[in-house]
Amino acid sequence: MSEKIVIIGAGQAGCQAVQSLRAEGFTGAITMVGDEAYPPYQRPPLSKAYLQGQLERPRLFLKPDAFYAEAGCDLLLNISATAIDRVARTVELSDGRKLAYDKLLLTTGGHVRKLRCPGAELPGIFYLKTIADVDALQAAFLPAARIAIVGAGYIGLEVAAVGAKRGLQVTVFEAMDRVMARAVSPVLSEFFAAEHVKAGVTLKLNTGVEGFEGEGKVERIRAGGRLYDCDLVLVGIGVLGNDELARAAGLNCSDGIVVDRNARTSDPVIYAAGDCTRHYGREGGELRLECVQNAIDQAKHAAMAMAGKPKDYSEVPWFWSDQYDLKLQIAGLARPTDTPVLRGNPASRKFSVFHLREGKVAAVEAVNAGQDYMIGRKLIAEGRAVEACRLADFSISIKNLL
Ligand SMILES: Cc1cc2nc3c(=O)[nH]c(=O)nc-3n(C[C@H](O)[C@H](O)[C@H](O)COP(=O)(O)OP(=O)(O)OC[C@H]3O[C@@H](n4cnc5c(N)ncnc54)[C@H](O)[C@@H]3O)c2cc1C
Repeated sequence: MSEKIVIIGAGQAGCQAVQSLRAEGFTGAITMVGDEAYPPYQRPPLSKAYLQGQLERPRLFLKPDAFYAEAGCDLLLNISATAIDRVARTVELSDGRKLAYDKLLLTTGGHVRKLRCPGAELPGIFYLKTIADVDALQAAFLPAARIAIVGAGYIGLEVAAVGAKRGLQVTVFEAMDRVMARAVSPVLSEFFAAEHVKAGVTLKLNTGVEGFEGEGKVERIRAGGRLYDCDLVLVGIGVLGNDELARAAGLNCSDGIVVDRNARTSDPVIYAAGDCTRHYGREGGELRLECVQNAIDQAKHAAMAMAGKPKDYSEVPWFWSDQYDLKLQIAGLARPTDTPVLRGNPASRKFSVFHLREGKVAAVEAVNAGQDYMIGRKLIAEGRAVEACRLADFSISIKNLL
């Protein structure tokens, strides 16, 4: 009897899993259920080229439509999975259908953290997660409009950069004392803050948002005890894992669906991959990542395990962000206790910061320095010891450090 695999969530990880299941030789039936109107698409351009109007919608899609039929995947869109019956091994759908599975893969991604403060429901306050979100934002994202951005994380700053380029009046409100504080080291925060200010963005650090006011739509934002006029608001204050379905089915969850190194949940026939998971990092400890790398690599590992070829997941995480003409690329996860080593000069707008832990490269943050990033990734994967003075010495080619 041929096995049935059901995938819940038609996003980056779900799409990768379909491809990898077939590549690993799985010949049974695959059904993928997605609650959005579109087949799997890339989200990173949503806050970059797509918002900028430089990328047409069809180019967001990860695969051509024909891919799913050719891969023998029944793709059900605009339908959400509402419950999992682990005893009967069925998934209940919002259209009343029930799908039987032998193995189940959860690739449900995450949802944006919402602001809960007075006025938070006013029209004109946007979040950015889906194509539909960008399309809604576009109507108000007009030259000269005053946009208040809540949160100076990746998404807030990418939207700020696009807004500044498109002639909006941009103010970013951030409760912490530096931009991208949870994601990058202080040198990078300082550099990116200065670039945004240079581009005309107003940065309000240490300024928590208290509420919004307006007649029929948002007109003012209250932050740090003051009122600021605005025409629209974009909130980017983080993402939470979509683990409600798994939690309701009794799977082990803790801000994400807990999986082992083979992407297996606490139920041996249910797997999970991508933003929705909490997994073991390569250096131990549990973590939940929100990045394309993890979605792709974890989906590959889930597919291998489901196809009976398990392989432990311990990939080096990597991430990128585009702001203005600056390409930020990060590999590894730096810790505050690491020793940062600066290579190059931030004033040249091409530099990197390597993070050494016990003499080995644990992470690299590169700005317009693709080669530093690539070599840094290799050094991390190989656990190679490197002397700080050689890393910092720009006269030594980075390639010679391998
Ligand atoms: C604006 C933006 C910019 C980003 N930029 C970058 C970047 O520069 N670099 C980077 O590495 N990462 C970036 N990311 C993060 C990256 O896009 C995600 O990490 C990646 O998409 C995660 O893939 P996933 O498959 O886990 O989840 P998703 O791609 O989010 O897919 C999950 C899908 O499951 C659906 N779903 C959830 N529950 C159900 C249900 N019960 N039934 C049916 N369907 C369901 C969701 O609606 C969604 O369509 C960005 C994200 C956003 C939003």
